[in-house]
Amino acid sequence: QVVKSARVMKKAVAYLEPYMEEEKAACGAQSQGKILLATVKGDVHDIGKNIVAVVLQCNNYEVIDAGVMQPADEILKRAQEVGADIIGLSGLITPSLDEMVHVAKEMQRLGMQQPLMIGGATTSKAHTAVKIEPEYAHPSVYVPDASRAVGVAASLLSTDQREVYIQTLREEYAAVRERRAAKNEARNLIPIKEARQNRAAIDWSAFNAPKPAIPGVTVLDNIPITELTGYIDWTYFFHAWELKGRYPQILEDTAKGEEATMLYNDAQSMLQRIVEEQWLQAKAVVGIFPANAVDDDIEVCAEDGKPLLTLHTLRKQGKQPQGRANDCLADFIAPKASGQTDYIGAFACATGFGIEEKLAEFEAEHDDYHAILLKVLADRLAEALAEWLHRKVRKELWGYAPDEDLSNDELIAEKYAGIRPALGYPAAPDHTEKDLLWKLLSVEEHTGIWLTESKAMVPTAAVSGLYFSHPQAHYFTVGSLGRDQVQDYAERKGMSLSEAEQWLGPNLGYEPEA
Ligand code: SAH
Repeated sequence: QVVKSARVMKKAVAYLEPYMEEEKAACGAQSQGKILLATVKGDVHDIGKNIVAVVLQCNNYEVIDAGVMQPADEILKRAQEVGADIIGLSGLITPSLDEMVHVAKEMQRLGMQQPLMIGGATTSKAHTAVKIEPEYAHPSVYVPDASRAVGVAASLLSTDQREVYIQTLREEYAAVRERRAAKNEARNLIPIKEARQNRAAIDWSAFNAPKPAIPGVTVLDNIPITELTGYIDWTYFFHAWELKGRYPQILEDTAKGEEATMLYNDAQSMLQRIVEEQWLQAKAVVGIFPANAVDDDIEVCAEDGKPLLTLHTLRKQGKQPQGRANDCLADFIAPKASGQTDYIGAFACATGFGIEEKLAEFEAEHDDYHAILLKVLADRLAEALAEWLHRKVRKELWGYAPDEDLSNDELIAEKYAGIRPALGYPAAPDHTEKDLLWKLLSVEEHTGIWLTESKAMVPTAAVSGLYFSHPQAHYFTVGSLGRDQVQDYAERKGMSLSEAEQWLGPNLGYEPEA
C-alpha cells in the first residue's frame, strides 16, 4: 500500500517543495533524517532497496539513492557530501557480503560515525554480527525486510531510545557470535579424500548417456514473451513484495488476500502491455557438450572430442548420516574411467533487455510502484524463461524426454528428469565458474548478458546455469568447506588459496589466515 501510494505522495512533495523550503527556513522543520542507500560494488540488484527507499520516504526520511555497483569510496564520499545520518548497504549475491565488510572497514579507517544498515537476499543477522559489526565501532544493524527499515532508522536516530537500542543490539549480536563460534567448533567436516569415497551411488555400467538431438551451441533470439507468461511462478512474485504465502491460495488469504489480488491484477495488466507494446526482449543461449567427470572436475569437449575446458565443482564435506552421500555435481556426470561419453548442458538467458527505457519513464513520473512492478515482472519472466528453456532442452534440443507433458505446477515442483543448478547458488557456490560458462557459450557475444566484477549478471533479469540429465541428479547444499578442499580447489582452478578463500568466504568452515 505504501509503495502504491508513493507516486501521489512524491508528486505532492515535488509540488510543495518550494513552499516547504521556505517553511523549513522559517521554522526549522526537518525530515526525520537523511539516509544514503547504495547497492555495493559488483552488484546490480535493487528491488528490495527501492522498496526500502519508498517506505522510508513515505515516513519522512530523506533518502539519497546512490544507485547500483557503488564502490566503497564513492559511497562514503557521497555520505559526507550529503551529510547522511545513516548509510544503508544492499546486495543480493554472495560476493557482496565481502564488499560490505570492506565498506565497514573503510568507515572505521576514515573515522566515520554513521550507523550502517545492512540488507539484501544473502545478508543475515549472523553475517552482520560475525563479519561486519566487529570491523566498525559504530552500530551495524541487519534489516531483515523493508517493513523493518523505519523502525531501525527511528531507533538509531532517536535521542532518548538510541542508547538502549544499540546496547540491546550489541548484546544480541555478541550472542550470535558466540553461538556461531560454538557451531564452528562442533562442525564435523571429514577430509576431502574421505568425502570423495562417499559419493552418490550411480551405476555407470548400466548407463546409456542420452545423445543430444542438437549438439553444440544454440542461440535463441527474440523469444516471444507471450510464450513465457504461462511459466511464471507467482509465489515468488508475491515474495518480492514481502507478501509471503503460496499462490493461488494467497489471493484468498483473510489478511493479505485483498492486497494480493489487486497486486496480481495490476501485474496482469502490465504483463499484457509488456507483450503488446514489446517492452522487453528475451534472449537465450544453450549448449550441450560431451563431458566426463574426473574426481570433482568436469572435462567438457567439443563434438569431435577436442577438450574445450574444465569446470570445477565443490563437494559437501560435512559428515553425513548413514545412507547419505557427500554430494558433488561432478558425480552426476559419467566418470572418465567408466569409458562412457556423457554430456553436460549450459545455458544463459535474460528478459531484461529494453527495461531501462520504460523504467526511466516511470521514474520521471515519480511512479515507484510501476517501476518496481516492472522490475519484479522482468525477474519472474527471466525465471519463466529458464523453465521454458529447460523444458525445450529436455524435449527438443537434448531431447531425452520428448514425450514429457507437465503442467506449470508440476514444472515448479520439478517433476522432470534432470536439474539446472545455478552457479553461485548452494550446489555450486563459486560465482567465478560463471566466467567459464561465459567462455563455453560465448554468452556475451550471443546474448549481450555480461558479468560484473562480482559476477552478477547484467541485465539483472537473467538466469544461467548448468544442465544435468541424469535421473538421479538433484539439488543439494555444499555448505561448509574444509581447508583441504579449498586448497585442492584453488590448485585445480589455478587460483591462489587466498583468492579462493575470498570467493568462497560464506562457505569457509574454518578461519582463513589473514
Ligand atoms: N520457479 C522459481 C525457480 C527458482 S528456484 C522461480 O520462478 O523463481 C529453482 C531454481 O533455482 C532451480 O531451477 C535452480 O536453477 C536453482 N537452484 C535451486 N536449488 C539450487 C541449489 N541447491 N543449487 C544451485 N541451484 C539451485
